[in-house]
Amino acid sequence: MRDLHLIAPGEVWLVGAGPGDPDLLTRKAEKLILSADIVFFDALVGPGILDLIPDGVERVSVGKRAGRHSKNQETINDLIVAAALAGRKVVRLKGGDPSIFGRSMEEMAALAEHGVTPRICPGITAASAAAASAGLSLTLRGLARKLVFVTAHARDGDTLDLDWETLADPGATLAVYMGKSSAGMIAKQLMANGMAARTPVLAIENASLPSERIVRTRIDLLEIATRALGSGPALLLIGDAVGAASSVSVGGRKAAMPCPNGAR
Ligand code: SAH
Repeated sequence: MRDLHLIAPGEVWLVGAGPGDPDLLTRKAEKLILSADIVFFDALVGPGILDLIPDGVERVSVGKRAGRHSKNQETINDLIVAAALAGRKVVRLKGGDPSIFGRSMEEMAALAEHGVTPRICPGITAASAAAASAGLSLTLRGLARKLVFVTAHARDGDTLDLDWETLADPGATLAVYMGKSSAGMIAKQLMANGMAARTPVLAIENASLPSERIVRTRIDLLEIATRALGSGPALLLIGDAVGAASSVSVGGRKAAMPCPNGAR
């Protein structure tokens, strides 16, 4: 599997590392990790994936977690550019899929300014992993014809400016990234814009990892329910399609906890 010619010197690959479980890496991602001579990785890239990086390959943590910025985006861009210009074989590992809330265009633009055109290897995004763990479908005939990926994280100093009326669409499933700390505000805004109080919600932390936690609730109870989560990355799935899964069992085990009293 270790093809040292897969990445040319000076070439950069933005690689999706998936939600955390190393078995959810694509084969291509694994080949690229094995072929790099330097790997930059985010805080969300799990230890099981970092274990795949061969000894002797330089690994650089450029982890960013909400409220705990270890390196700012500009510094990260500079480091990747410098590695490419030095002729290294660069893998930039990003949690989930690089094209979803991954700031990959900023890194691509910085590289392009120096004549480097990075390539992209897609990954499994957190919403797909969450749906799989909970045994549900993000779209559902008759209930969810639309799937919306939205982030509840605003740039430092900015207020969250979302089109709540559109987001409250009863025919959609909402996958909210980075929404745990603003769960109460999200619930309030969605209900104020017409979402039914009993709309099912699934909050999932550390999807695909042994530490995974799933909380099944409904929108009017969301703020209290998210207090049951720890400090890991968490995703909110909101909509009627999410409730439709509560009676399905996956691989012989019950997919998720039942809804609170009276919920659908
Ligand atoms: N590019 C990533 C998303 C990066 S934004 C992707 O495609 O998945 C970071 C947010 O993703 C986290 O705050 C959380 O909302 C979500 N996330 C990432 N990994 C997750 C996981 N294993 N379980 C639950 N949510 C996760």
